[in-house]
Amino acid sequence: MTNHEFETKLLHQPQFRDKQTGAVNVPLYYSSTYHQESIDEFGQFDYSRSGNPTRQALEEAIAELEGGSRGFAFASGMAAISSAFMLLSAGDHVLVSKDVYGGAFRVITEVLTQFGIDHTFIDMTDMDETARNVRPNTKVIYIETPSNPCLNITDIEGVAKIAKANGCLTFVDNTFMTPLLQKPLDLGADLVLHSATKFLSGHSDVVAGLAVAKDEALGKRMAFIQNSCGTILGVQDCWLLLRGMKTLSVRLKQSSESAREIAQYLHHHPAIEEVYYPGFSFHAGYPIHKRQATGAGAVVSFRLASKNCARIFVNRMKIPVFAVSLGAVESILSYPATMSHAAMPVVEREKRGITDGLLRLSVGLEHVDDLLADIKQALVAVQQSRPVIHR
Ligand SMILES: *Cc1c(COP(=O)(O)O)cnc(C)c1O
Repeated sequence: MTNHEFETKLLHQPQFRDKQTGAVNVPLYYSSTYHQESIDEFGQFDYSRSGNPTRQALEEAIAELEGGSRGFAFASGMAAISSAFMLLSAGDHVLVSKDVYGGAFRVITEVLTQFGIDHTFIDMTDMDETARNVRPNTKVIYIETPSNPCLNITDIEGVAKIAKANGCLTFVDNTFMTPLLQKPLDLGADLVLHSATKFLSGHSDVVAGLAVAKDEALGKRMAFIQNSCGTILGVQDCWLLLRGMKTLSVRLKQSSESAREIAQYLHHHPAIEEVYYPGFSFHAGYPIHKRQATGAGAVVSFRLASKNCARIFVNRMKIPVFAVSLGAVESILSYPATMSHAAMPVVEREKRGITDGLLRLSVGLEHVDDLLADIKQALVAVQQSRPVIHR
């Protein structure tokens, strides 16, 4: 489109302005169907499952922001992810990073298997392991980076190269970064997926998914699936998402800055066993993350000594909502073991470092000093309940 900077593109795209009235927000086209002029000439739209002007504005916006050829809006992040997997056929195989989002794990292990689509979970931070596990029938390599909740970093460019050499597609779940901080399509990925429920919408008020295909051919196949399966996002939610996305840059930059301060504080606190944060220079994936993303994001995970410590911490925290989800204006504290990763069997969960003492904090827009004070007092309560760990 234009060569404007990302922040400007969030606000100004041609489809945002209503051609007829000049309205600066995309109208809500609450219409399931469209009048056609004659038997011989159909207009651009015919039925809203196949296309709707409000949804189209959103789909064009995300395609522009991710640098792809075509965007798609889905009823949820999982609708986007599972629709993408509909590109596969019985007998195909997917290679998946082992610490994917719990819902993706469930679709891969319990739904795709019903259709004869096989999978292997691997440590995708390891390029040799990745290359070694590609099979002749592998069609997709599925990446989540930083991963949820332990924030491991996968080299998108490296994996995409392995995928291309083997005729596979590369899918990247870019929920934690958004295109503000990471552009997987520029790094060689074929399809970007989002739970737009998180940072893109940003206000804990909508459940939505987005996908962007790099090239036209894949875009065509995704459009066919979106229309065939009918996994579309409703008009009002498209509008809410368009509205939320306008402030993505200021929200995510501010939250990321606070997250950095909080991560550093937690790192130096004796009651914390480990902090997972890709902005630490000593994080194993730091050099790769620095190369492929422009920020560490607003999510910090950390491990307390036990479930009881986590319980005390959660009970004492006053500011964040204690809830499933992330990426909102309000800070959200989650307990992955029974929230985001409840769908994962205990053994699998623990193998991935999602232990009973692990908590995840998605930092919002509160004043960071208030958040730090809140964390500090909650950790005092944790420490009073158990002996201090000396490191
Ligand atoms: C939340 C989430 C999803 C699922 O999205 P929904 O909108 O809840 O369906 C997928 N991937 C990641 C990384 C998520 O955080």
